[in-house]
Amino acid sequence: MAGMETTENPTSEAAYRRGLAEVADILRGWQGPIVVVSHVDPDGDAVGSTLALTRALRSLGKDVTLPIEPPRFLAFLAEPGELSAPLEALPAGCLLAVLDAADKDRAVGAPLEGAVKTLNLDHHPTNDRFGDVAVVAPDKAATAVLVKDLLDTMGFAWTVAVATPCLTGMLTDTGNFRHANTDRTVLDAAGELIEVGVPYAELTDQLQLRHPDYFKMLGEVMATVEFRLGGQLVTARLTRAMRERIGQSDDDSDDFVGLIRYAEGVKVAALLKEREDAVKISVRSRDGASAQAICTELGGGGHRVAAGATVHADLERTAQLLEEATRRELDRLAAVPAGS
Ligand code: 5GP
Ligand code: MN
Repeated sequence: MAGMETTENPTSEAAYRRGLAEVADILRGWQGPIVVVSHVDPDGDAVGSTLALTRALRSLGKDVTLPIEPPRFLAFLAEPGELSAPLEALPAGCLLAVLDAADKDRAVGAPLEGAVKTLNLDHHPTNDRFGDVAVVAPDKAATAVLVKDLLDTMGFAWTVAVATPCLTGMLTDTGNFRHANTDRTVLDAAGELIEVGVPYAELTDQLQLRHPDYFKMLGEVMATVEFRLGGQLVTARLTRAMRERIGQSDDDSDDFVGLIRYAEGVKVAALLKEREDAVKISVRSRDGASAQAICTELGGGGHRVAAGATVHADLERTAQLLEEATRRELDRLAAVPAGS
């Protein structure tokens, strides 16, 4: 059965509330197993929103499996035994909740076919509304905001254990409440979670901690910074050779691109991460440029100012494709009359 949210205006608050109420009803009544998954390369919102929902549902007596592998800097969020390895098959009669995954192809951790019902909770504008009930709210700063609203809808009695990962999702997806998606809604939601008792300063401090190798890698990656298109595009590379030398996975490199985005004159910043037979690019934009438009052109997607793609080419070719897509986006931007 298609959920009501698949046909309604995604930005309508009333439709959003109805969607959450429908999800709340399903979760409350569910007696069988529940599997919660998120997107590949899980970030703070992926880990935080799934862990918050999982803990809340377990405290309500539900049988929940969370197959997710957090990056190293987020591993502190989970207790031993809370997470599981990727599932080969879904348990019989299960409910599948997919969080923060723009499309089915991005979701990992379990097969996506074979659930009795599939829930899709997300805030990516590019979400294709897969699943039986899809609550997609692009105006929300993080999927963790949806989880906060969902648990409030269920009348959940908040605990620090549930509030902490939920607040983490809000912190990381807003760049610690600095990005353009920071609004009253997310700040209010975060305030309520702090009031539950989350040790805020401790959490933000912990979220900045990185393995020593991270800083060695930062040095190597920053040495590759290149300015293109008259300084409007900045790129940096993280190569397989660097990873072999330093011995770090690229899990923790997410904010490298956020750093170079602050070079004066830059409208588009990209980190090119070399993988086995492809290059993963992370793109951030500013001053009206759309990272999403660039990445969509390269076969990926994401949000307006933060998007990504995986390009099946070598670093040189990927950099070239990225530059071409960026040039087209900057041309488009230049053609738009100021103020519109
Ligand atoms: P990141 O650069 O941090 O990997 O991703 C930034 C944003 O773009 C995230 O919201 C992420 O989910 C999205 N994103 C990254 N890579 C892809 C991709 O290949 N396809 C789609 N649809 N979204 C992506
Ligand atoms: Mn998110």
